[in-house]
Amino acid sequence: MGPVRWQVVAVAAVGLALTLEVLPSVLRWLRAGRRRRRPRRQVLFFPSQVTCTEALLQAPGVAPSGSGCPCSLPHGESSLSQLLRALLAARASLELCLFAFSSPQLGRAVELLHQRGVRVRVITDCDYMALNGSQIGLLRKAGIQVRHDQDLGYMHHKFAVVDKKVLITGSLNWTTQAIQNNRENVLITEDEEYVRLFLEEFERIWEEFDPTKYSFFPQKRRH
Ligand code: ZN
Repeated sequence: MGPVRWQVVAVAAVGLALTLEVLPSVLRWLRAGRRRRRPRRQVLFFPSQVTCTEALLQAPGVAPSGSGCPCSLPHGESSLSQLLRALLAARASLELCLFAFSSPQLGRAVELLHQRGVRVRVITDCDYMALNGSQIGLLRKAGIQVRHDQDLGYMHHKFAVVDKKVLITGSLNWTTQAIQNNRENVLITEDEEYVRLFLEEFERIWEEFDPTKYSFFPQKRRH
């Protein structure tokens, strides 16, 4: 090899070294850019694998047990654990508009948020909330505000809004039976327009179901 060839090799080697050096920061920069531009878009599909959710649902002040949970369930992620994470991310407010709410894990998550000082409001269906296993009574006992319909038609929504920024909506009823057995979808989106529209609908129903407007002795319609 002549002296010129050696120079080419040396320049190429330096170039390669530099590229490898800066590559991670370039990739990080690109990834951060994508995160900034694109709001969260996620879909969870059910039925969910049954996993242990103990670590997620520990009360404040309880030391995390780490990887030492002795139960026999798998300890990885599942659709349910990701739904719980999305809810537990709340810092200021949580609006829940749910036809059926009997899943103990989801009930526990909502109670934890209430204990942390998150303002939780629940709208639900008057028929379903009276059924055995409903979490609504427990949530009320914990001091969470609940309002319900008085209609024959169902309050059939299944959506939640976290911190007025993240909309969680789909076909899933918040019951263990649906979580573990049904084919369901749950969309998680930060799209500002959808969040705004769902919040407006929540406020509209919240006002409509104000208990001071309940009629305990419905008047017969006059013809
Ligand atoms: Zn476990």
